[in-house]
Amino acid sequence: MKRIVLASSNPGKLAEFNRLFADVGLEVVTQGSLGVADADETGLSFVENALLKARNAAAATGLPALADDSGICVDHLRGAPGLYSARYSGTHGDNAANNAKLLRELDGLPDAQRGAFFICVLALVRHAEDPAPLIAEGRWHGRVLTAPRGTGGFGYDPLFLPHGMTQGAAELEAATKSRLSHRGQALAVLHARLADWQRDRT
Ligand code: IMP
Repeated sequence: MKRIVLASSNPGKLAEFNRLFADVGLEVVTQGSLGVADADETGLSFVENALLKARNAAAATGLPALADDSGICVDHLRGAPGLYSARYSGTHGDNAANNAKLLRELDGLPDAQRGAFFICVLALVRHAEDPAPLIAEGRWHGRVLTAPRGTGGFGYDPLFLPHGMTQGAAELEAATKSRLSHRGQALAVLHARLADWQRDRT
């Protein structure tokens, strides 16, 4: 089976992508398992960083490569935490501190000014210099709650109320979140375009 390298070492993501790519006869392996070091994420946008990561993995392995980048963008903060979502409070992956900081930044703002969206960008390159990467994006709109709700999900989920819903992101069934979320949307776009991508030659 042909292989594709995933520019992430997250086992949850690996399983999700392997299900998706099995349809087109590709096996996904993590860059960690091939000894590839993480790329410097020096871009100014999610798409730039996803491409940097995918090109880095392709250059190191000679395989087609897939990368994802995601985060939350808050209207009132001109898109922050944005690229820095995972380390907004200063410590990478400290969800409680990140959420506490976001609540402080929006303290006292009425609901109408608490708009935000999650974004996920997937970038797939055939090789390190691929001029025509496949880019799939998903956005999940809503607003930032004034206090955490729910125990599911991860990251900023306890503070996110999706547009038009009464349940917060951390109160949703995992399957419901997967279907509606920025990541679910991006995966659906990628999936819909994979068969064509397999036929193209660049
Ligand atoms: P990464 O793309 O896996 O590095 O994720 C970046 C950061 O964005 C995560 O650490 C979370 O803080 C935030 N994030 C991305 N997707 C979600 C989500 O679905 N729910 C909550 N937080 C998220």
